[in-house]
Amino acid sequence: MTAGCGEFELIRRYFSSVGTQTDHPSGILCGVGDDCAVLRVPTGHDLVFSLDTLVEGVHFPAAAPARLLASRALRVTLSDLAAMGAKPFCFTLGLTLPAVDESWLSDFSAGLSDVASLYGIPLVGGDTTRGPLTISIEVKGLVPQGEAVLRSGAKPGDIVCVSGTLGDAGAALDFLSADLASVSEDGRKLLDRYWAPIPRFDLADKLRQAASAAIDISDGLVADLGHILAASSLAADIDLDAIPTSKVLQRVCSGQAKMRALSAGDDYEICFCMPEQSLPVFEQEIAQGLITPIGRTRVGEGVVLLDAQGMSVDIAQQGYQHF
Ligand code: ADP
Ligand code: MG
Repeated sequence: MTAGCGEFELIRRYFSSVGTQTDHPSGILCGVGDDCAVLRVPTGHDLVFSLDTLVEGVHFPAAAPARLLASRALRVTLSDLAAMGAKPFCFTLGLTLPAVDESWLSDFSAGLSDVASLYGIPLVGGDTTRGPLTISIEVKGLVPQGEAVLRSGAKPGDIVCVSGTLGDAGAALDFLSADLASVSEDGRKLLDRYWAPIPRFDLADKLRQAASAAIDISDGLVADLGHILAASSLAADIDLDAIPTSKVLQRVCSGQAKMRALSAGDDYEICFCMPEQSLPVFEQEIAQGLITPIGRTRVGEGVVLLDAQGMSVDIAQQGYQHF
């Protein structure tokens, strides 16, 4: 950022100690304040990293609360690490601001710090510029050498699974610009899932152990499973009835819950494939409904949705596309 607004003081105040108070992997030799951050990848690990950019008015509503915005921005980016079976290492932040608003920055920094501390990931650098509000976060993660879970590893006959329930965050879009006082309790629960998606690090170890391919669901199940299938050159038969939706979504969207779950993004649950013999790895999670098998891969192309009679169902909405 150019000139006169106490840029370095601003960075020191709001960004020099985000996520640095908690335990995190060693290997950060230099963080915020030099020309570059210096990282040492621990022996026996691969570095994985991913960048997400959120633009005001495109990826989040104008005048969104800064604290929620920061929390969501970091959470959705962390979700990519979880989907690779990685552990958080550190992150960088590119922040474009229309003006320096200290109360906004203080809230933004607090939201970022909450999530950074929760997941033990320190902020090690970034860039601050003037312009339309845009947040770019690059997360770096670590996986044991050669164990990153790619989209391309699924094999014919693998079981397709999803974590959690789908569709809640997408349904929250209806409430995003509403006055919170007028939003029902169910609506608020959906909003929670939109603003605070949970990166599924709880599954990372088991994904590395058992999954042949994985992706986090940002654009909708059909679209994102489609990416695994395209990368793995496969088709999948998906049992529509098996797709897990929350009670809240069923109440709010009644008959539309399944369609929402198929096509709505923003949940950041994990969709993954695994060979049948790996099922015991997730036995407990499946018994508890935390992981749900929803279908099977086969030779072919694309997602095929099947109703209770095994008849193929037409998919009207294919999920969010940016262009
Ligand atoms: P340079 O001019 O050498 O590129 P900058 O003036 O852009 O450096 O930044 C100074 C220091 O502050 C660097 O260590 C940079 O990584 C850090 N920094 C700048 N903006 C941010 C930000 N939004 N979040 C975290 N660190 C930042
Ligand atoms: Mg420099």
